Amino acid sequence: MSQHRYLLREDQIPTNWYNIAADLPVPMPPPLAPDGSPLQPEMMTPIFPMELIMQEVSQDRWISIPDPVREVYALWRPTPLHRAINFEKVLGTNCKIFYKYEGVSPAGSHKPNTSIPQAYYNAQAGVKRLATETGAGQWGSSLSLACQLFGLECKVYMVRVSYDAKPYRRVMIETWGSEVVASPSNDTNAGRTILAANPSSTGSLGIAISEAVEDAATREDTNYALGSVLNHVLLHQTVVGQEAVEQMKMAGASPDVVVGCVGGGSNFAGLAFPFLAEKFAGADIKVIAAEPASCPSLTQGVYGYDFGDTAGMTPLLPMHSLGHSFVPPSIHSGGLRYHGMAPLVSHLVHTGLVEARAYQQRECFAQAVAFGRAEGIIPAPEASHAIRAVVDEVERARQEGVSRNILFNLCGHGNFDMAAYASYLSGEMVDSAYSQDELDRATAELAGMPALPA
Ligand SMILES: *Cc1c(COP(=O)(O)O)cnc(C)c1O
Repeated sequence: MSQHRYLLREDQIPTNWYNIAADLPVPMPPPLAPDGSPLQPEMMTPIFPMELIMQEVSQDRWISIPDPVREVYALWRPTPLHRAINFEKVLGTNCKIFYKYEGVSPAGSHKPNTSIPQAYYNAQAGVKRLATETGAGQWGSSLSLACQLFGLECKVYMVRVSYDAKPYRRVMIETWGSEVVASPSNDTNAGRTILAANPSSTGSLGIAISEAVEDAATREDTNYALGSVLNHVLLHQTVVGQEAVEQMKMAGASPDVVVGCVGGGSNFAGLAFPFLAEKFAGADIKVIAAEPASCPSLTQGVYGYDFGDTAGMTPLLPMHSLGHSFVPPSIHSGGLRYHGMAPLVSHLVHTGLVEARAYQQRECFAQAVAFGRAEGIIPAPEASHAIRAVVDEVERARQEGVSRNILFNLCGHGNFDMAAYASYLSGEMVDSAYSQDELDRATAELAGMPALPA
């Protein structure tokens, strides 16, 4: 029997995170304070512990992973890398398709790779409670787990549309011991303001972030934790790509194409950044970020400064954005409904080192179902965008008459997303489009933002 699963030993869990900021061919523009002045690290101390702030601004290539974090990682890491041999057969391709599977974590996605260190550093700093937002519930459940393991309380503001559509994620958050409310909520000024204007608001990640940041900024015992977008979050995810580099060596194949789906950019970065280091050193690797056509920050957004949240409480981040007041249509990939994009990923797209593609949800689900039937694992709806992009690359290789090694991040399983699969299988699913007027209105607000440095 031939072996198509590449496994590492526990002592091969990486000992450092890889900080791509040290290697960028063109340095990134800096974040700014909400009023446009330079952002001083001390300004972030009301909501983040110093260790994470230092990681956020670090230029060191390697940042060591604390032993207690590696010990928790060992609950599910190293994660397997598979060759999708059956999916290759279904596609009739001579390309080799590999996937790194992050769905083996307790929460079922890559998110605990950063929730664990974030809870750890907050506990070390004497913080008692964390506040956060969650879209599909993946981040809320991952942080709830991490807070339980490190003895912290946690409150999760869950985007209303997911709170109603994904009750099991909500129960998971509660099972691991955290409190969860639908956002917009009546518990914060930001939430009350939105509800006053629109009582039936379905919420958005931007709104939920405003609520969680306000909670953390107004309570002495509470810090804030973010599941994507920021540099330190992407940093923590690089355990994924470092393991994959070793596993591709075991498979005797180096990737020609590396693919990830992008919401805020963290699972993509986790897989891609260690391979981008090889690309910076001369390797010929195409790197693709796949996003939903209904929330297309990289392909339709404006590259410039914008707030990370709706109420304008966060620093101004240099990123591709649809405008901080943009409310994306409700799609099944709740984790991809974010108006902005990680500054690091935005910068890499802007400088031409990463390509962005946008896909409609039905074409993504079609490939997710084909993949699940061939490989067994039912992908998270978010990950279906990566699979759709892989199929594009297979087609491209066929047209060019070449064989390529394609690696993607299967960042989570879809076992809590059966409603989405039911909607697809019954033929009820539609390709929800954003309103162009709404996008024009939200991006027009960006005109008043500070300009990026030349
Ligand atoms: C949260 C989430 C995403 C989107 O977030 P990124 O930071 O872009 O990775 C994608 N897939 C899954 C399974 C998620 O839980």
